Amino acid sequence: MTDLRPLLKTILSALVGPPALGVVDSLYEKKNVNEFLIAKKLKLTINQTRNILYRLADAGLVSFIRKKDAKKGGWYTYFWTLSLSKSIASYQTSLITQQTSLQEQIHSQKTGRFYTCAHCAVHLTEDQALLQDYVCAECGEVLTLRDTTPVIAELEKELAKVQATLNKVSAHLDTVQVADEKVRQRKIKADVRKKAKERAVKRAIRAKERLKEKGLLKRMKGNVKKLFGSSKSKKKR
Ligand SMILES: [Zn+2]
Repeated sequence: MTDLRPLLKTILSALVGPPALGVVDSLYEKKNVNEFLIAKKLKLTINQTRNILYRLADAGLVSFIRKKDAKKGGWYTYFWTLSLSKSIASYQTSLITQQTSLQEQIHSQKTGRFYTCAHCAVHLTEDQALLQDYVCAECGEVLTLRDTTPVIAELEKELAKVQATLNKVSAHLDTVQVADEKVRQRKIKADVRKKAKERAVKRAIRAKERLKEKGLLKRMKGNVKKLFGSSKSKKKR
C-alpha cells in the first residue's frame, strides 16, 4: 500500500504541530505502542507526550488501551494506535468544508458588486458602500466598482489545489476503508468459525451426557424389572 506517512503527518500536524512527525513515525503500521517508546522518540517527558496524544485522541485520530503496570507502582501505562481511516476521514471533511467555502466565495464575487477606494485600497460590499453613500469614509473620495477578476482567479487557483488534494485523500480513504473492511470480514468469519466449533463441542458433550443418562435409565429399568417383574405381569396380578 502507498506510504501514507506524509499525509498523516500533515493531518496530525494541523492539530499538535511538529511532534506529530514523531507520533506518526512511532505508530504507523503498528498497534498498541507503549507510550514510553513514543516519549523517547519525541524526546519529551511522559506527561508532555501524553498531553499530545490526548489531544489527538480527543479528535479521534489515535486510540489507546491502558494496563496497570506492577513495575511502575501500579500506575497505568497507555498503549497507542493510530486511527488511520478516522484521521484521513477527518481531513477529508475539513477539505470538503474548505471547498464549499471557496465555492461560495467565488459565487459571491461573481454575482455581487464590490466597491473600492482607489486611494485607500479599502474594499467594501455593496451594502457597506450604500450605507456610506458610495463615499470613502477615510478620504471622502467617491467609491468605484471593484474589478473582482483577479480575486476570482486567486480563489479559483486555491479551489483547484484543494480539489486536487481532496481527490487524492478520497482515493487513499477508499483504499484504507477497503483494507479495514477485509480485516473486519476476516474477523467476522473467524468469529463464526469459533462459535460453530464451540457449539459442536457443546453438542458433543450433551450427546455424551444423553448417552450416559440413557444407559443409566436402562440399568434402572432393568433393576426395577428384577425387583418387581415387568409392568404387564404387575397388572395381571
Ligand atoms: Zn479613501
